Amino acid sequence: MATEGLTIQQRAIAESAAYAARGNQEGLKQALIAGLEAGVTVNEFKEILVQAYAYCGFPRSLNALATLMQLEAERGYTDAQGKLPSLKPEGSALIYGAENQTKLVGAKVEGKLFEFAPAIDEYLKAHLFGDIFARDNIDWQTRELATIAMLAAREGVESQLNSHINIGKHNGLTDAQVAEILQIASSTQAKDVVFGFGEENPYGQYFSGKSYLKPITTENGVPMFNVTFEPRCRNNWHIHHKSGQILLVTQGRGWYQEWGKPARALKVGDVVNISPETKHWHGAAKDSWFTHIAVEVPAKDGANEWLEPVTDEEYDNLEWK
Ligand code: MN
Repeated sequence: MATEGLTIQQRAIAESAAYAARGNQEGLKQALIAGLEAGVTVNEFKEILVQAYAYCGFPRSLNALATLMQLEAERGYTDAQGKLPSLKPEGSALIYGAENQTKLVGAKVEGKLFEFAPAIDEYLKAHLFGDIFARDNIDWQTRELATIAMLAAREGVESQLNSHINIGKHNGLTDAQVAEILQIASSTQAKDVVFGFGEENPYGQYFSGKSYLKPITTENGVPMFNVTFEPRCRNNWHIHHKSGQILLVTQGRGWYQEWGKPARALKVGDVVNISPETKHWHGAAKDSWFTHIAVEVPAKDGANEWLEPVTDEEYDNLEWK
């Protein structure tokens, strides 16, 4: 068992869970294939995708299970089925679920919210930690790995994500493994970009790291391209001669810097106006995928001049906030 990074099987489980949470069936299918080929069993994936309903709702869980079912038919039922769970424990699910919850979290879970709405406390204990977490054909660490991936792939659940990162670590996930899960989840978001992810950037030689380019429109005199950068990826210093450029940030966090000026932190909704003949670079923050639309302002004889890379030293000095 690796103590540092994730195994191939764990990566496939995290990726499947994240795609299931986003409702991206094509991404899910590819992640399931990678996992099945690496030896994750059908029953293990069923457990993850059933558990998904607690964190993303029945519709996402049902659609993900349908994708797995269809994939199995396509693959001719040749994949290892794996173990089924043992029989449920005797007695009240509320009681053993509460015990499971305490063991999993490392302390009794209480709080004002559970006094305000006791029904949700009962369902969490009896159902999520009783019925679901009592199914023992995958271990709790794997269930937490999947939960972290599902929450990290969604917006507006930061508090639950942070709790589950702590629970995952309490169940043996290392800091490096958690960082990898977050990055996998962030990459499933990046591939969901509104105008499409596109192909690996043909101008890659002028970039540090991987980026992806999708032409949005090239037909009406104002070319627009969707550019997605992996974490840490940025383009070289460059100049748009004669033609200006407008950047519209649509996903993730990133940077824009003009020569001789401090770098500007970019977030979704930001607009950057770049005048012709201005030496600059743009790219992702170190822990986030980043997507912008690049609008090329039409100009006669416009041309790009690519210059030196932004060094690791320059880049590592930036603190995104
Ligand atoms: Mn530019």
